[in-house]
Amino acid sequence: MAGIGMTLAIVSTVIGSFYGNDWNINLILILVAVGIGTWLGKKMSDRAEMTEMPQLVSLFNALGGGCALLLGIIESQQVQNADDRIAQIVLLAGMIIGAASFTGSIVAYYKLSGKKIDVNGTLIVVLSRLTLTTVIVLPTLVTLQVFQISLPAEAIILGAIGLSYGVFFVIPIGGADMPVVISLLNSLTGVATALAGILYVNVLMIAGGILVGAAGILLTLMMCKAMNRSLWNVLSGKFKSGKQLGNSTAVELDIRSITMGEFTTQMAFANKVGIIPGYGLAVAQAQHICSQLDKTLESKGVEVHYIIHPVAGRMPGHMNVLLAEADVPYEKLREMDEVNHEMNTYDLLIVIGANDVVNPAAEKDENSPIYGMPIIKAYNAKQVVVIKRGMSKGYAGVENSLFGEANCRMVFADAKAALNEANIELKRIA
Ligand code: NAP
Repeated sequence: MAGIGMTLAIVSTVIGSFYGNDWNINLILILVAVGIGTWLGKKMSDRAEMTEMPQLVSLFNALGGGCALLLGIIESQQVQNADDRIAQIVLLAGMIIGAASFTGSIVAYYKLSGKKIDVNGTLIVVLSRLTLTTVIVLPTLVTLQVFQISLPAEAIILGAIGLSYGVFFVIPIGGADMPVVISLLNSLTGVATALAGILYVNVLMIAGGILVGAAGILLTLMMCKAMNRSLWNVLSGKFKSGKQLGNSTAVELDIRSITMGEFTTQMAFANKVGIIPGYGLAVAQAQHICSQLDKTLESKGVEVHYIIHPVAGRMPGHMNVLLAEADVPYEKLREMDEVNHEMNTYDLLIVIGANDVVNPAAEKDENSPIYGMPIIKAYNAKQVVVIKRGMSKGYAGVENSLFGEANCRMVFADAKAALNEANIELKRIA
């Protein structure tokens, strides 16, 4: 639907701008650009694995911000001639926001791809605060016309500051806090587009931009709430980075695994089972077999819920999308806050490829980079079985003490293979 909408928007904008005018060389340039863009977009999307979606979305978001920046630079000459100060301020605001969103989203792309950016944490946080101050103070001075420089010069200076802020703002973001930043960057691109729409008096751009900007900022606020952070902390880089990991308390975990037979027996004797999906479910593409296992359990009279953490996976709503793909009915999904107080009513919790979202370090270890993040309190359930391939840490890179709790057992396997085997065994049990 988005694709159809974009096609309509592009076609009508092109027709609209040439209507009544001569069809000149610009039309050919536009068609060539649209052709190249379509070909590149299709190639990138075809190549991307399902699990690479979050970084691809970030990259596309960067392109939106980059467009706003380029539009600003190109239009600065004309807007200067128009001598309309309000239009000039709108142009500069759109540029600075677009620039920050462009570089910020590229850094987010790298971080989501699992690439490490090795930098001095303290230095980057200082630079982030410094550029944030500049991002606030300088445009104000420019707006008040304190400097007597031309608009294109102002545009270049503010664009460069926006670019730097995007980099310094996203680099220090710790693992568990990336979701907030991703939705904020998304929202910034929307705002930059809306500002460009005001400049061009283009209702479609204004409406689209405001829609993305408003939805993005609402999502950001919800993510902030889910992560127990304030929006100001996000903007000023007051996040704990992975660098502080070293201070975290190291614990010896008593890890106990169970056989598939024991696991299926536990399932068969349970009255109420909770499934906690995480990023590993997406990696294994185990959503369909998970839904089949759920149906087998239900056919044996077991009540099954899916317990969803707002930042599970690698993009907002990742688990909801995966489960919807496997036709899991919406009524079966429970939000973390809805069930956290009644965890002890679950006879068995099955944690599938989730790690950070059930990590008690978020509640207990003040030095942990995820400290303060609300988690699914899986440790309160009667029994917990965790399905993961080995003892790798989650995205935030933190040891998970849940795996060593007395009520927790591990099934070390790929989620899809394990769930498939469990489903076959469970069907055999009368
Ligand atoms: P997680 O903490 O990243 O842990 C995922 C676990 O899945 C890993 O420990 C891995 O362990 C396991 N795994 C990977 N492949 C698997 C497979 N084929 N089969 C079974 N297990 C597999 O995931 P999470 O608990 O969902 O937490 C999400 C994290 O990502 C949070 O820190 C969140 O802040 C961050 N994040 C979220 C978003 C968002 O918008 N949702 C965006 C950016 C970052 P093994 O390798 O040992 O199997």
